[in-house]
Amino acid sequence: MLVTIAPDAPESTALALLTAAAAADLEARRAEDGHGGTVVGVSGNLPADVLSLPGIVAVKTQHKPFMLASREGRPHAPTVVKLGDVRIGGGRPVTMAGPCVVEGREALLEAATAVKAAGADILRGGAFKPRTSPYAFQGLGEEGLRYLAEARESTGLPVVTEVMEPDQVGLVARYADMLQIGARNMANFPLLRAVGKTAKPVLLKRGFSATVEEWLMSAEYVLAGGNAEVVLCERGIRGFDPAFRFNLDLNAVPHAKDLSHLPVVVDPSHGTGHRQLVGRMALAGLACGADGLIVEVHPHPERALCDGSQTITPAELAAIVRSGRAIHAALLETAGDESAAVSLALHS
Ligand code: PEP
Ligand code: MN
Repeated sequence: MLVTIAPDAPESTALALLTAAAAADLEARRAEDGHGGTVVGVSGNLPADVLSLPGIVAVKTQHKPFMLASREGRPHAPTVVKLGDVRIGGGRPVTMAGPCVVEGREALLEAATAVKAAGADILRGGAFKPRTSPYAFQGLGEEGLRYLAEARESTGLPVVTEVMEPDQVGLVARYADMLQIGARNMANFPLLRAVGKTAKPVLLKRGFSATVEEWLMSAEYVLAGGNAEVVLCERGIRGFDPAFRFNLDLNAVPHAKDLSHLPVVVDPSHGTGHRQLVGRMALAGLACGADGLIVEVHPHPERALCDGSQTITPAELAAIVRSGRAIHAALLETAGDESAAVSLALHS
């Protein structure tokens, strides 16, 4: 059940709903409705008497199982996730870029400076890497996190990096501005609960065999834990054709945005596996309403320690950023609404 409470309602109304839910042995969570009001999501139905308390403006008994992530409780106010001055969602598309893995201090600083010059808003790079082979380079761990923090200092770019285990969350959150949950961990529920308890935004990649509903249920774990700052990332699903490492599922972008108020970004690097496809699929992602991109970029892709075949150069990134801005501007013009988010303007 989703109960919406007006901004000027007495605090006692929300408290009474939470108390009634606890008395009925139901889970209940508070969230913002995006217009100053509150939504209380309850894992069942509350008795009628509490539903007529002052300030209650809407009660929905039929809704998606991902009740906090769903648009139903927050219909016209897309979530905007903030990393310092960078805003993800509801505006200009955001670009996250950097190497697959943090390779070393100088290499990272060089990459960070180059992606910043190319127009990136956020630096990416893995310190803890989920490698398919136990013999492949697993990342520099905390040393890599230190280099990311140094790169942030020198470029001003916030950093996003992967966390793989619940016990690592505290450590990674001390260095990173945004915690990445990798595709292979999308359904690691203890990890989702752990990042749900932090105050750091979360980049939640879609598992490569996960349905959109499963992906949104994973987002729900984070939101239910008390962390409202989740960005969804479509990064490709398994297809049958060995020509592609993964298939970037662009259907999922507008679909996830129809179902959820959370921002959605696209990863055309893992979503294709081929650097020559990255630019065009990045732009396709923006054209179908993505709020941004995460792209693997390296000053010398042929020398990259990880995922070089899908890694582009800073110059290629600069071209994507330029064309991406033009696509965004064209969509806004067509939608005729300067202030609306492209995606919102397109589908509302
Ligand atoms: C990555 O971003 O480098 C990564 C490992 O991504 P994914 O979890 O989508 O495979
Ligand atoms: Mn990678």
